[in-house]
Amino acid sequence: RAKAAGRNTYALFDATHHQALHEQRETERALRSGIARGEIVTHFQPIFDLQSRHLVCVEALARWQRPDHGLIPPAVFIPIAEDLGLIGDLFGQVLRSAAEEAVRWPPTVPVAVNLSPLQLHDPDTAQRILAILDSVGLPPDRLEIEITESALLAEVEAARQSIQRLRRAGIHFALDDFGTGYANLHQLRDLPFDKVKIDRSFVMRLADPDTACLLERIIDLAHAMRLTVVAEGIETEAEAAWTRDHGCHHGQGYGLARPMPAHALLDMMAARP
Ligand code: C2E
Ligand code: MG
Ligand code: MG
Ligand code: MG
Repeated sequence: RAKAAGRNTYALFDATHHQALHEQRETERALRSGIARGEIVTHFQPIFDLQSRHLVCVEALARWQRPDHGLIPPAVFIPIAEDLGLIGDLFGQVLRSAAEEAVRWPPTVPVAVNLSPLQLHDPDTAQRILAILDSVGLPPDRLEIEITESALLAEVEAARQSIQRLRRAGIHFALDDFGTGYANLHQLRDLPFDKVKIDRSFVMRLADPDTACLLERIIDLAHAMRLTVVAEGIETEAEAAWTRDHGCHHGQGYGLARPMPAHALLDMMAARP
């Protein structure tokens, strides 16, 4: 009996597993053709100075407009694009559309794009980025590249050359999701970062005294390295006030502005002083 039950369990597992595999293949196929057909769209989230509330930067965020599925978030399709070796193509499209928008903004407002850790190991990445900026006509100092802290852990040496080449061209760097990846402090000091973005997981738990205390220390550390500090995930006025009063320079979050299509951002820019 046990054996029979076991066999049934396996049969059920096989069917479910088979279904999941089938869906995964289907998603991969759809993403591959979607990237080729221009289904990746870029949304833009404003970042503000927490003191003056002036617009200081805009982050470009990828979405996949999958036919009959709606707008798919990057957490779903970025890992698949990485697996399929398509992240470079996807990034190129996001960078191009971000740069094409940024040339229409005030020259004081840079655009930030997210670079996948895998791309840092590709020796052609730096050249491709500079070629896209050149063809669109966006000065390199208007671009900021965000790299997640965990990405740095893997292989700094491979990353260092790409980063330094781009930095020399004038591109700025931000360490994304700061506080979540235990970046080596030497790496932080040695790589040319201008900014750290404090991960949303800290800001959302500010009511917890231990988290607040930890966050104060993280901000101190960033100040000691003379980095601009950005708080991510500001949803409430209390979070905006706390982060401002504890030394965060800039803020990003649904409470300040949500990610939006390019035309909505232009409307917002026109409506503000
Ligand atoms: P990230 O770079 O840390 O971007 C911030 C994410 O937090 C965005 O999610 C944004 O919509 C979300 N967010 C901002 N403010 C709030 C808030 O107040 N509350 C909440 N709950 N969320 C907030 P999104 O657009 O889903 O992107 C998720 C991640 O996907 C990004 O995290 C980034 O790591 C990655 N990603 C997005 N676009 C690209 C891309 O073009 N290339 C690569 N390699 N990764 C990308
Ligand atoms: Mg980011
Ligand atoms: Mg971030
Ligand atoms: Mg984050």
